[in-house]
Amino acid sequence: MKAWLLNKPASVDRRPLVISDIAEPVPGAGELLLRVAACGICRTDLHVVEGELPVRRSPLIPGHQIVGRVSALGSAVEGFAIGDRVGVAWLNRTCGVCDFCIAGRENLCEQAMFTGWNVNGGYAEYAVAPAAFSYRLPDNFDDIQAAPLLCAGIIGYRCLRLTGLGLDEWQGARLGLYGFGAAGHVCIQLARARGAEVYVCTRDRERHQALARELGATWVGDATDEPPVKLDASIIFAPAGELVPVALKAIRKGGTVVLGGIHMSPIPSFDYSLIYGERMVRSVANNTRADGRDFLVEAARIPVRSHTQRFPFDQANEALIALKNDAIRGAGVLIVD
Ligand SMILES: [Zn+2]
Ligand SMILES: [Zn+2]
Repeated sequence: MKAWLLNKPASVDRRPLVISDIAEPVPGAGELLLRVAACGICRTDLHVVEGELPVRRSPLIPGHQIVGRVSALGSAVEGFAIGDRVGVAWLNRTCGVCDFCIAGRENLCEQAMFTGWNVNGGYAEYAVAPAAFSYRLPDNFDDIQAAPLLCAGIIGYRCLRLTGLGLDEWQGARLGLYGFGAAGHVCIQLARARGAEVYVCTRDRERHQALARELGATWVGDATDEPPVKLDASIIFAPAGELVPVALKAIRKGGTVVLGGIHMSPIPSFDYSLIYGERMVRSVANNTRADGRDFLVEAARIPVRSHTQRFPFDQANEALIALKNDAIRGAGVLIVD
């Protein structure tokens, strides 16, 4: 099969992904073999490819927003058949027995494996994934629409949950979003459907700010602009630590600033008064399967519409370069089949 391999992390400008002909993977016990149709492009892929996340497997096939169809079943797979359409996300498998797994916090599992980081991902014609961690995808999303839901969508959903606002508290709530790429553009649709006002702080007038307006933002400003009202909660999707004090300054007492990325530049020190008043800062790490399932139900009901920019399979490096340069409107998707 054709697959993009990362042999050694490097700046994407040096095109570190190499197209290669390698053997099709064989599904093990409990695993599905998928013919990949599309794979979403996530900022985490950029962190993996450029080496901001440590190397966990080499060579590696990146990509963790996989939409594919089952083409073979490993032993002991139940509930899936050849031809079924499934999605594979970042959380690839967990141990199932550690304190976190038992407590319903499998996203924090000490032995967790991640698609496209320590397990091969979806920048390839075929991929294997555990059936127990594969999602059935609602019919109202086609393959390309569905791909960015699998990380950008699920993580945005978990970020909304970790703001601490209950489902009955969103009506009229004021939510801030810092950065408006793949995750932001899905998250705003969930928040608006729940009745929130959304204040978007992002650079890039032409693409990100315009899309935020189109999707119903109450107010749109530059990355470090202060919204005209105090916010009840904010989510920082941009990997920029300097936004943490900026976001704290804009939040009301008792509000939470959620950090949605897996990697962030250092957070500058700031005055205690910015966090005093029981303001909170918390990160989001990965997702649970319940997040994924609950999100897909909510996304199908709204229904969320993902804005995608398609990249042909041979353009994987170019897609990552575009992502790095903030040149993608909405979410980038690699078209495999
Ligand atoms: Zn575990
Ligand atoms: Zn991701």
